[in-house]
Parts: sequence; structure tokens; C-alpha cells
Amino acid sequence: MGEKLPEDLASLSELDEKSLLEVLTGRFTQNLIYTYIGDILVAINPFKYLSIYEKEVSGQYKCHEKKSLPPHIFAVADRAYQSMLGRLATGPKNQCIVISGESGAGKTESTKLLLRHIMELCKANSQLEQQILQVNPLLEAFGNAQTVMNDNSSRFGKYIQLRFQNSSVKGAKINEYLLEKSRVVHQDEGEQNFHIFYFMLAGISMEDKEIYGLLDPTRYRYLNGRFGKEDVVHAWRLKYAEVCNAMDMVGFEEQEKVDMMTILAGILSLGNIAFETTDSDALKVSEASRGWLKATAGQFGVQEEDLLKSLTCTTSVTRGEAIQRLHNQQQAEDARDSIAKVAYGRVFGWIVSKINELLAPKVDCDVELSEIGILDIFGFENFAVNRFEQLCINLANEQLQYFFNHHIFLMEQKEYKEEGITWETITYKDNKPILDLFLTKPIGILSLLDEQSAFPQATDRDFVDKLNSKFKTAPNFEVVRNHTPLFTIVHYAGKVQYNASGFLEKNRDTIPANIRELFINSVTPLLSVLFAATISRTGTLMPRKAKLQVADDNFNSTRKQSVGAQFKHSLAVLMEKMFAAGPHFVRCIKPNRSKQPDQLDSKLVMDQLRYNGLMETIRIRRDGFSWRPKFREFAERLVSFGLFSFSCMSILNSTQLSGWKCGSSRLFFKYWHQEELSRLLERLGRAALVIQKSE
Ligand code: ADP
Ligand code: MG
Repeated sequence: MGEKLPEDLASLSELDEKSLLEVLTGRFTQNLIYTYIGDILVAINPFKYLSIYEKEVSGQYKCHEKKSLPPHIFAVADRAYQSMLGRLATGPKNQCIVISGESGAGKTESTKLLLRHIMELCKANSQLEQQILQVNPLLEAFGNAQTVMNDNSSRFGKYIQLRFQNSSVKGAKINEYLLEKSRVVHQDEGEQNFHIFYFMLAGISMEDKEIYGLLDPTRYRYLNGRFGKEDVVHAWRLKYAEVCNAMDMVGFEEQEKVDMMTILAGILSLGNIAFETTDSDALKVSEASRGWLKATAGQFGVQEEDLLKSLTCTTSVTRGEAIQRLHNQQQAEDARDSIAKVAYGRVFGWIVSKINELLAPKVDCDVELSEIGILDIFGFENFAVNRFEQLCINLANEQLQYFFNHHIFLMEQKEYKEEGITWETITYKDNKPILDLFLTKPIGILSLLDEQSAFPQATDRDFVDKLNSKFKTAPNFEVVRNHTPLFTIVHYAGKVQYNASGFLEKNRDTIPANIRELFINSVTPLLSVLFAATISRTGTLMPRKAKLQVADDNFNSTRKQSVGAQFKHSLAVLMEKMFAAGPHFVRCIKPNRSKQPDQLDSKLVMDQLRYNGLMETIRIRRDGFSWRPKFREFAERLVSFGLFSFSCMSILNSTQLSGWKCGSSRLFFKYWHQEELSRLLERLGRAALVIQKSE
């Protein structure tokens, strides 16, 4: 046993980076990976199995009082659940848990642990519980991949909403964000394609392999990665069985599964089609890839000639006349890759909508459901080359940081002032100007991008020139003089240089009409449905027929939205939900870059603490009042504890509670008061009941 280290950083009297790091490191070496900052949980990835998730442990974190048990992710789940039900000192309210951290820091594992524990807390009926938990292996197989940073890296963001009627779970809904489709056609050194391809090739029976037309995995150009090592292949085989099982469990139909596998097989074959120039202007497929063309056509359920045509030329209709333009080799390869990306992206989107359909709460529509949302979305990214994807991811992180700041600093300090509480202002980095730079109408970066994307002739260079002329004096924008279209944004977490090559195309994300037509006419039912579907503004797939049954935020616009505009909209919807909910924060930290247990790289950890603004957070959590009920709200709580004829002040003065303050319309409590008070109130309530009875 080592020395006893504080479980809450807000309790540190010495508040500098050194002592902070000492505590975290000390705890980490004792396998204490969780530490609080007030009500915020800091989690350091152990990269090894710890026995702290066993049944005995989870059994303890039920309606527990925070002080009595060590910091734990289960405690966060418990607090969110109890708060949703109004069992802690605040009234019932929707909750959201925001998990942040860089790639490999442990966000997705934390999400799974939260889900698992919440399911346990609400004693979910076993079938629905199983379904909700089984969704994960399915999503991970199709949405995760091995990267340099993380062997099981999520290549999409997600917001899981658990829906409850009173204390029992009734269903769930998933929103997905920004699947990294480009991974289907290209992976960098040391990285892999989405897991499902490897799982499928390893796990499928010889018989099915033949049916789907699958060959040896090393034959496919779209697949990087280690094959052959028996232990790895064995693990993939087990995963495949797990995925198949999950699909059955969640409720996918046999035909749907077959179609899905066929499409995946088609994508792999498609990637092997290569082109050659001929004496005439037309391209042909190389001799060696004739067979692949035939295989692809078979798997996609389309005619070979039609497929070839859609790869080698574009048809556009001008004044009622169809005009064919022949592709050069590059254009043909781009068309091939874009079919693969679209097809995969749509399969993924379809899986998510299917899951949502199956997990939708089965209750009368006038029943009001409460909600706990868990957000697991990529952390801030800064690579050697940063593209449109990084721009969107970093925008999302700016938005989350803003949400965090808003709750922790802005709202809190504004109220102190308004309510006349004495308080020394804590300064923090406000990132609103960066958000404005992206989102302001009519001249934010995204609007400018849309404006340029609407001109067929505009280039990425034109876009950057526009940015330069509009924002050259903006504080968070830096002009880069270079013939490549580059620009720099000073994010809250540091400077990022973006390469705008491909921005316009990625933002438009249009499927050429002839390709869409080809797939709509596919004899594979799923493929035809997927290509006929329109994508709603939140990125959810909407089959054409279902247009009229549009649910809440799945607003379906007939005009196709750009990727940027869709993303901006889905972020706005998400933020609206989150701002209306009771927030919980989990800050995940990666201890080292080599994914090793028991190693903590101080500089790496410090950098993460710094850009998360955790130093300032510790101060405000230590000195501030995180729970600030209005008098009325507080009085209602008293009533809910059976304390009818008492005034707030008389109750508070009668307890030994210290350190709270009274403003002009609210009470101000420290974060630890909430639990202390609900315990006190319960006791007083019981006592009052005894008095009433005896009277
Ligand atoms: P992120 O989603 O932040 O990119 P993950 O949650 O996928 O990161 O975690 C990366 C890897 O770290 C996991 O695959 C797992 O091996 C390990 N890991 C993360 N959290 C834990 C934990 N609580 N206990 C043990 N290992 C963990
Ligand atoms: Mg993840």
C-alpha cells in the first residue's frame, strides 16, 4: 500500500502544476486511475485489466454517497441516473455525460462502462438491456479500425441517448457523426481498414466465402494489415461470430445480413479494378482486372457494362440533351473510390438507423420520457496534413470546450456577480471568437465554404483566397503564403494548419447521377434502398417512402445539404439538447504514446491537462459554488422530502452545513453539499414524519 493520496484535486491546498502531476502520478502507480476535480472525473487509461469493474464493485456504486467510495466511472453513471430521477438534491431533469480526450485516451471504453452500469442501475428488462449492450460490438466492427494511436479507434463520433420512463429504460437512440469514409479506400502505414472486413474474411465459412465471391484477404488492394498470424486471425474469427450474434440479437433479418455482406464483398472487388488508356480516348479496365469488374458487378447486382460506363464516363444532362464526358485515368480511379466510400458510408448509416428503429421506445407517444445522453466523439486532431475531416472534428471540439467553459466558468461567475456574492474572478480562455469564426452567418468559414461549393467552377484555391481576404485580421486566423491552398487556425488547443485541397469536393459530397441511377436499379434490395434514400440534415438515412414520417430532429430537406451545413446543423441540435440537460464531464487522459501499462509520460499528461483547462477548473471547483438552486427550487426539494412547513433558511441554519452562501434569488452550495444535504434532508424528513404521526 502506498501513501494516501487525495481523491479530489479540488481539495489540494497547494495548487500548481507540479503538485497536481504528483498526485495523479502517485495515484496512477497505485492503479488508482480515477480522480475527481469536484464533480468532474479525470480518468487515466491503464492499458491493462483492472479488477475494479467486477460485479462486487458495481454493486457498491448504487445510490452511493460520493465521499464514501473511491472515485469511479460507475459513480458518474450513478450520479447521472439519480439526478435524472431527481433523487439527488435537484429536481428530475435530462442528463448528459460528455467524455473527452485524445485518441486512445479511453473514451469509448468509458462509454461502454457507463452504459453497462446504467443498465445495471435501472435493472433493465433483460432483452432490451442485451439489445442495447449488443449494439456496441456491431458499431465497433463497422465504425472502428486499428490506427497508430489506438488498436480499436472509433472512426466516427456518437451520441447515445438512453430513454427512460420513470426509473426503467425503454429504449435508446444513437446519433453518429462524421464517419471517416476515406479509410475504406486508403489507410496510412501501420493502419487498417474498418474491422469488419478483417472479421468477415477470417470468420466466414468456406461455403459462404464462395457464395459471396470472397477470396484470400491478401488479394485486396483496399486492405492493409497483418494477415496470416494465427492468433490474430483467430481473434478476428471470434469477433465475426460476435458481430453475427449481435445482428441477430438486435433484430436484423437474414436477407439484410446477406445483402450487407454482399455489398462489403463488392467494395473489396471494386477496389481491385484498375484502368488502362487505349488508342482511342476511352479507357478500359486492365486485362488483369477484367475478372474483378465481373465480380463487382455480380456482387453489386448490376450489369457489367453499366458499371464500366459509370466508372469511365460522366453523363450530364444539359437542355434536355445527355452529354457524355470520358474520364481520364485519375477520374476513373476517383469514381471507383467514391463508389466504395458512398456504399460503405450508406451501409453504416443504414445500420445505425436500423438499430434506432429496433431500439425505439415502445410506449404511447404522450408518455414523457427522460433521457441520459453519452457523448463519445473524437478528440482534437493535429496531424502532419490536416484536411476537411480534421476541420470538422476540431470544430466539434471547440464547441464542446465552449460547452464546458460555459458551465464551469461563464454561468457560474456571472451568477455570483448578479447575486452579489463576493468572488474574485477566475480568468479562462474563452473560445467563442473561434466558434464565431467558423459559424457566423453570412461570413463564417463554413458559410464561405458553402458559397464556394455552389460554384461548379470554383477551386480550393479560390476558397482559401476568400478566407484570406475576409479573415486576414481575425485574431484566430493566419494567412499562409504558399501555392498549396493552406490556412491556419489558432484553436484553443493550439495552432492547426489546414490543407484545403479537396475541401470543396468533400463538402459537396455529391454522387454523380449516373452512379446513383446504376445502384438504384441494383437487384440487391438493400443497395437499391440505400442509394434511393436521401440523407437527412442530421446525416440519418431516410428511405424515400418514409419522408412523411419524419421524427423530431431528423428534419428531411429535399435540397441536398452540404456536408459542412449538415454537420453544423447536427452540432447545433446536439448543443441544444446538451445545454438543456444536467451535465457530467469525464476527462480521459492518455498516459503514454506506446499504449503500455504502468508508464506515465509527465509531459504528455501535463499537455493534456493544460489544453483541457484543468488547472482553472480545479480552482473554480475548489473555490466555487457548482450547485445554485433558486429559492423556489430549493423549497420544492424540501417538500419532496416531506418538509412542508419549513423555510429554506431555518432548515439550513439548523444543519451543520457550512460554506454555503445566500444570494438575492438563489442559494449557493459547494459541489459536496448536494449529497450531504440530501442525506440531511432525508433524516429531517423522517423526523418530521414521526412528529406528524405523534401529533
Ligand atoms: P478512445 O475511444 O479515447 O480513442 P478507447 O476507449 O478505444 O480510446 O481506448 C483505447 C484502448 O485503451 C482500449 O482498446 C483498451 O485496450 C485500453 N483501455 C481504455 N480504457 C481502459 C480501462 N478502463 N481499462 C483497461 N483498458 C482500457
Ligand atoms: Mg473511441
